[in-house]
Amino acid sequence: MELLCHLLPNATFLQLENWLVDKIKTQITLIVSSVQAVVKCPVCNQPTHRIHSHYGRNLADLPWADYSITLQLSVRKFFCLNTECKRRIFTERLGDVAVPWARKTLRLTEKPTAIGLALGGEAGEDLSQCLVPVVVKPSKRSLTPSRATWLVLRRPELREPDDEKLLTLLVAQHPSLAEAIKLAQDFASMVRQRQPSQLDPWLKQTIDSHLSPFRRFALRLREDYNRLVRKFATPSGPGFGQR
Ligand SMILES: [Zn+2]
Repeated sequence: MELLCHLLPNATFLQLENWLVDKIKTQITLIVSSVQAVVKCPVCNQPTHRIHSHYGRNLADLPWADYSITLQLSVRKFFCLNTECKRRIFTERLGDVAVPWARKTLRLTEKPTAIGLALGGEAGEDLSQCLVPVVVKPSKRSLTPSRATWLVLRRPELREPDDEKLLTLLVAQHPSLAEAIKLAQDFASMVRQRQPSQLDPWLKQTIDSHLSPFRRFALRLREDYNRLVRKFATPSGPGFGQR
């Protein structure tokens, strides 16, 4: 326990309460609390000791051998005692441990940056991923339905290599999506490139597909399309005799 205390990012105001080792996930969790007796308001700089509340925060720290390290930190909110300050309650600052709202310790953030600066580009990125394997996962957003839709419908020339990889993975993991993705992409491309001649083959292919939402959409589209064609073909319809 004493050894572990020395390895904390800041042993002065962080106190190690407990620790857990998960051998299966090769993860060590350090349960830590902040013990600064007096903190300063970030707006007016006045010291205060009046605690408002406690809350938990998880910070990834530098790994030890093959183990990823997470600090499960109990931090506090304080009242600012300065009646003229516009901030009434604030979260205590953690100095050199982490910036507010960060999910990694500063020393973890700085390590890949230093490697990147020294080696530059992909070599730095590859090496930093070898050195800090578990905790420095690429900060990709999770794949929500709206992000998946955006990914599928984005112009192919604007897709990043990562987007392409994600799309390939999506189809590989869910082969049933492949047909839907293809139909959606063909439709988007047809609209973008204004290719009305492609509409009939697309409608036919979609109405024959097993994807009921697409089928319904295609049937409605065909109905509207036919209605428009009929309207314009009728001498009394719009477009005739109006000049
Ligand atoms: Zn203040």
